[in-house]
Amino acid sequence: MKAGVITGDVAWALLQHAKENKYAIPAFNCTSTSTVNSVLEAGMKMGRPVMIQFSEGGAAFIAGKALPNEKGKLQASILGAVAGANFVRNVAPAYGIPVLVHSDHCAKKLLPWFDGMLDADEAFFKAHGEPLFLSHMLDLSEEPDEENIAICVKYLKRMAPMKIILEMEIGITGGVEDGVDNSGTAKEKLYSTPEDVYAVYENLNPISPMFTIAAAFGNVHGVYKAGNVVLSPKLLGDFQDYAGKKTGKDKPLCLVFHGGSGSTKEEIATALSNGIVKMNIDTDTQWAYWEGLLKFYKAKEGYLQGQIGNPEGEDKPNKSYYDPRKWIRECETSMVKRVQEACQDLSNVNPAS
Ligand SMILES: [Zn+2]
Repeated sequence: MKAGVITGDVAWALLQHAKENKYAIPAFNCTSTSTVNSVLEAGMKMGRPVMIQFSEGGAAFIAGKALPNEKGKLQASILGAVAGANFVRNVAPAYGIPVLVHSDHCAKKLLPWFDGMLDADEAFFKAHGEPLFLSHMLDLSEEPDEENIAICVKYLKRMAPMKIILEMEIGITGGVEDGVDNSGTAKEKLYSTPEDVYAVYENLNPISPMFTIAAAFGNVHGVYKAGNVVLSPKLLGDFQDYAGKKTGKDKPLCLVFHGGSGSTKEEIATALSNGIVKMNIDTDTQWAYWEGLLKFYKAKEGYLQGQIGNPEGEDKPNKSYYDPRKWIRECETSMVKRVQEACQDLSNVNPAS
């Protein structure tokens, strides 16, 4: 497989290979070139594919917090996502690994962002014969199921000619992510049924087979103290069995795992054996990035109180400690380790030779 950003049939074949061989591609939320590079560095060290994803808020941050990002337009979110995707395209080949570029949760009120990214995909496709992004995620799980599926159908029709993968969500993932708070959701909505999930397959598959489903199985966005929501990755097996009986195919669904932070290795292993091909990781890498700085500050506190003067002398300069390249690099090396750990958890590793 070529190094750099992959899309279309090549990337879809990679996800099928993951499903057959019971590993998943970890998808990391990135909000800067620094976090992108951390993911790429970890992928290079592992010699394995990685996925970079931009949320609507994260994309706006990439473009710059000062830019206008009006409701109904979301111009900074569009600009930042496109800039982020182009940055990954430019640097990824140098890292020598396949890289997948995705956009994260898009709720109904954020559809102008989705439309803007598809405009960019179409322009890129016209020029290069492939889309800018591998895939986009449409999260209409807060809407009634019929409306959710109908909007997904509409968008998949626009995406299919470019072979862009649609990731959709059915059922509600609990917790808070990127400002969307589902912590008060009724318990039964936190678990999808096999019928709910099959309805998605039945409606989308005739348009294009290139879609993935984030079904709810008691997963929660972010890390919380254990509450009354129980993660049940066994349910994913029920979804596959039901869809399998209906279609006569073995494990016909391509499933994705949202809210994976804080899951046990056993829970992840069960999810992998039930056809999870991608898992989102955000909260755990956010902590790792911050912890790199925390540890550096604690270790070098005496060198970080002024431009001049440290424990070695009143006139000693501290430039080499407060240069952003120094402390941001500490964040990066800490995040690289956590990204590698996520690859291992998802069995996204090369067999020992
Ligand atoms: Zn989700």
